[in-house]
Amino acid sequence: MPAINRVLEANLHNSINYDPKDVSPRPRMQLAVLTCMDTRISLPALGLKVGDAHMIRNAGGIATDDAIRSLVVSHYLLGTNEIMVINHTDCGLMKASESELHHKIEQEAGKAPNAAVHFHAFQDVDANVRQQLRRLKSHNWLEDRVKIRGFVFEVETGRLREVHG
Ligand SMILES: [Zn+2]
Repeated sequence: MPAINRVLEANLHNSINYDPKDVSPRPRMQLAVLTCMDTRISLPALGLKVGDAHMIRNAGGIATDDAIRSLVVSHYLLGTNEIMVINHTDCGLMKASESELHHKIEQEAGKAPNAAVHFHAFQDVDANVRQQLRRLKSHNWLEDRVKIRGFVFEVETGRLREVHG
């Protein structure tokens, strides 16, 4: 069965116990997490439950303009006051350079992209976390208003290690 059909089936089943009174759009822990879409980083791995935090995810856990947009909404409209940036070891974006990624994907797609794609490839995960911290802290809508801390999720051990900005 296609994955989406399995999701639809599970959703129908789970909706039996869904009560809109149990959930709020405002994160219970007033926390926003910016992290990679990697499957190994999960709510349970962070000790979080549905409703605890905003999860803003993209390939790499990069503080792109769009991630910053979400974090601004998270803080100003939905009351979060702490941001955790989490990158991880063994990230797919560490395995090739920006131009190698472009080349590989263009080869596979068989055509040049009709809209620019920037992968944010990196080599050093600690340095990459520090770069995301700098990007977030340099935005004057976030600096001084929100506590921002950076971490590496070690996929080898499942543990978080703090990286100071
Ligand atoms: Zn990753």
